[in-house]
Amino acid sequence: MIAYTKDLIALLYPKTCAACQRRLQQNEDVICLFCEFDLPFSNYHQEADNILAKQFWGRVKLEEAIAFYIFVKGGRIQHLIHQLKYRGRQEIGSRLGSLYGEILQKEATQLIEDWDIIMPIPLHPAKKQRRGYNQCTTFVDSLAQQLAISAAHEILKRNIDTGTQTRLGRYQRWENVETIFYLDEKQKKELEGKHILLVDDVITTGATLEAAATIILDLPNTKVSIAGIASAITL
Ligand SMILES: [Zn+2]
Repeated sequence: MIAYTKDLIALLYPKTCAACQRRLQQNEDVICLFCEFDLPFSNYHQEADNILAKQFWGRVKLEEAIAFYIFVKGGRIQHLIHQLKYRGRQEIGSRLGSLYGEILQKEATQLIEDWDIIMPIPLHPAKKQRRGYNQCTTFVDSLAQQLAISAAHEILKRNIDTGTQTRLGRYQRWENVETIFYLDEKQKKELEGKHILLVDDVITTGATLEAAATIILDLPNTKVSIAGIASAITL
């Protein structure tokens, strides 16, 4: 009876691909097989001096800058991230994290070996309360699990009183961005000597990642790499 009800629900409300919205087959999970192989991969893990890495040159010293996908406005990745971010579909993050992990395991063994901790960029507390979750959490957890590296969600913290940035000039914005994050003394110790992989959903200007990386790099013997679910940075 339960199986029958499940079948009926599946018939009435067929699951669709979170990227292209085609109807999913039974063996497909969250995204269809076509999208699994055909979404715009960045392959930045195969190219150290990629355009995302170049974006940070002269701003902050990163070991690697990588992203799973290339973000194109109006494209399938935008749809995918939108569902993850605003529609509560956290299973998208889990699926993408394990897919990306599988690829990195095959193609970027050396990078993985050097990472100690995977960490999401924390959301502003008010935003997190409104949304109920950080859109990077499930991605970070399944990526970490796939790569057998620990994930840390509570180490890097976000200050509450950084207001809106849209009306500030570029320099003021940078000053403001520098005070976005903080680390407790005890947590600073935990990061010493570690290589941290910082994760954000869509990398646009890179200012947030830069601020987070800067704070971590102030600690003795730390290294930072960054990864995006997608990168919107173009030449
Ligand atoms: Zn699809």
